[in-house]
Amino acid sequence: MPELPEVETVKNILLPLIKDRTITKVEVFYDRLVQSNLNDFKNNLINKKFINLDRYGKFLFFRLSDNYTLISHLRMEGKYRYTNKDFRIKSTNAIFYLDNGYSLSYDDTRKFGLMYLCKNEEVKNLEFIKKLGIEANKITLSDFSYLKNKLNKNKKIKELLLDQTIMAGIGNIYADEILYASKINPNRLGKSLNDDEIKNIIINAKIILDRAIALGGSTIHSFHPQEGVDGKFQESLMCYGKEGEICPNCGTHFHKIFIGGRGTTFCPNCQIDYNYKKAIGITGPIGSGKTTLLNHLKDLGYTIYNSDEIVHNLYKEGYIKNKLSRILHTNFDYEDLKSREIVRNILITNKEKKKEVEDYIYPILENYLLNEISKNDLIAIEVPLLFKAHFEYMFKKIFVIKLNKEKQISNLNNRHINEEKMMKLNNDYSYNKNNLDVVIIENNGDLEAFLKNFDNLLNNN
Ligand SMILES: [Zn+2]
Repeated sequence: MPELPEVETVKNILLPLIKDRTITKVEVFYDRLVQSNLNDFKNNLINKKFINLDRYGKFLFFRLSDNYTLISHLRMEGKYRYTNKDFRIKSTNAIFYLDNGYSLSYDDTRKFGLMYLCKNEEVKNLEFIKKLGIEANKITLSDFSYLKNKLNKNKKIKELLLDQTIMAGIGNIYADEILYASKINPNRLGKSLNDDEIKNIIINAKIILDRAIALGGSTIHSFHPQEGVDGKFQESLMCYGKEGEICPNCGTHFHKIFIGGRGTTFCPNCQIDYNYKKAIGITGPIGSGKTTLLNHLKDLGYTIYNSDEIVHNLYKEGYIKNKLSRILHTNFDYEDLKSREIVRNILITNKEKKKEVEDYIYPILENYLLNEISKNDLIAIEVPLLFKAHFEYMFKKIFVIKLNKEKQISNLNNRHINEEKMMKLNNDYSYNKNNLDVVIIENNGDLEAFLKNFDNLLNNN
């Protein structure tokens, strides 16, 4: 979706092409494109000359002769095309024929874009224009009180940055970039931000948007400012779309979650949110006593979660079944033992497929856990793959259970799991040794001593 820098780029490309040209004919192929009266739109545009082109937020304002303004919003995939041939293509919604033999064609495959024609003096009274907030690239520290007041809401900061009535022009790309640069977690509530954090948003919005404008915006997915013209800012993106990659600032993996239905990339370490860093994490090899500790925490009043169980329940969801069937090229049905065995074999032999499945399921598990953490103050979670999935940021303390081989085999024998099967299971518990939240606990002795030691470590700060 074109955001402020991309719309600015469209403006800069179009203006020299259409300035002083007169419209000779108008064709509209998709009536709902025009939000003002359609007949007036077609009739009143004839013989109007393009005088200027302005932008506010993500809106374009074509200034015309006789005091008319044509307002245009590109929404998801709207594009202008200036051409003297092939006027109409499949996605063309409207064509403005010009007096030099060229035409300005508006193409929009998704058909979400809109136009509105009115007299200049009416523009400022239009509801959808009146409610626009301050322009995101024009905001300065003198607007601090304005922004502080607008952000003082019980809503996530990511959603507030996308709200055009607060700051106009920011969409998904630049919201993620501004929050990363400001080291603010996208899940934080607007009202929880302190003054310095709000000032950082103002400063970074200006720096990032100015830089993106200078580089012609970002060329991503569907957005191209014009045929043969590519924005360069996508090469300068620090965070947006980089899930799974390493944060250049701290070395943690970028995570992707969904906020208000919008994909959101962030670094859980640089953009730490202490509201989420309150769970007790338990990890360790199979047969090490994770469930024993979890049940002990339940007795202490904690709400407990077992990630394996959560994932197994997720596997029963239709949309997840479908996606995993597509990834694995086999019918994925977790409730069917035969299908489960086939899938297990694929995952053991095909490392790439295994990674693809993990890359898909971890963010879903992550969202689930974040949601549960936000609802519970005393919460403990068993996550066998805690370090591999890079979930460290959710926990104030992570217990890694260690035990010797002898003890592990005896525990597993009690559970009728044989050694051969055990060796096939994941045994990678390597973690960052600088992580001060990690506590190692040994489980080689008897249960009573294990739990007593655990209680001491849990209460130690
Ligand atoms: Zn980082």
